[in-house]
Amino acid sequence: MYRIGGIEAGGTKFVCVVANAAHEILAETVIPTTTPAETFAAALAFFRQQGGVQALGIASFGPLILDREAAAYGHVGRTPKPGWTGADIVGVFRCELGVPVVLDTDVNGAGLAEARLGAGRGLDVMAYLTVGTGIGGGLIIGGRPVHGLTHPEMGHVKVQRHALDGDFAGVCPFHGDCLEGMAAGPSVMARLGHPLNEASPDHPIWTILGAYIGQFCATLTLLASPQRIVLGGGVMSNAGLFPRVRTACAAALADYVAHPRLAASATDYIVPPGLGDRAGAIGALLLAESGLSEAAD
Ligand code: ZN
Repeated sequence: MYRIGGIEAGGTKFVCVVANAAHEILAETVIPTTTPAETFAAALAFFRQQGGVQALGIASFGPLILDREAAAYGHVGRTPKPGWTGADIVGVFRCELGVPVVLDTDVNGAGLAEARLGAGRGLDVMAYLTVGTGIGGGLIIGGRPVHGLTHPEMGHVKVQRHALDGDFAGVCPFHGDCLEGMAAGPSVMARLGHPLNEASPDHPIWTILGAYIGQFCATLTLLASPQRIVLGGGVMSNAGLFPRVRTACAAALADYVAHPRLAASATDYIVPPGLGDRAGAIGALLLAESGLSEAAD
């Protein structure tokens, strides 16, 4: 029987799934992310208990080394997460399971799933941005995530300070006031001492975050001309942000790019995810499938 495996590898948990060709989940387990050795062993035990898989896809937290020509391909790059720098994700699973293993970033995995089966279905060019503890983005063109030199790091693009935001310095340890530093969850905690969903509806933080994220959507529009921008993640689960993001995006574009979808009132350009919180696991399964077709070539 045709079975593929997927791992949504996060900083706190590994969600491991086994599915059939229709992407129906046949088995699932959640493993806490501890050391690489312990976490990989638990995931391997799960896939073996399920009778193995024909291919495995992994959508992982990063940074990741995705250049297939590099000696360290498939390893985790330099990360503050103790013990994980240099962890050989692809090598361990390929060696132990003896099947094709395809690795990509968590955000590229989720973006791929949204492009093929979710909010971006049928589109050629789609951007996916997750706004949560951090901000990451993927550009999916022709059903494939763009990699290029490394992989996009959209969350760290600089944004223009909002007048209501005072002299808030931002929380990105690398850049201070980049998009992630100004609009991810920890920036809200740093300003307010509590998460966004506890802010009153008339608090200026809504306008401030909407402005930064909308400004970035305008940048994305100018750079890549996506047909749709999907915004996911914990911060964007506050539906009240969407109208503010759309308004800020339209304001930043200032009618320069003419398309009805770019109007502040249009609701089919900047949209929530179609797959909810399943995008990561489904994306990992789609990566596994790409590994099978590559192996068949
Ligand atoms: Zn940054």
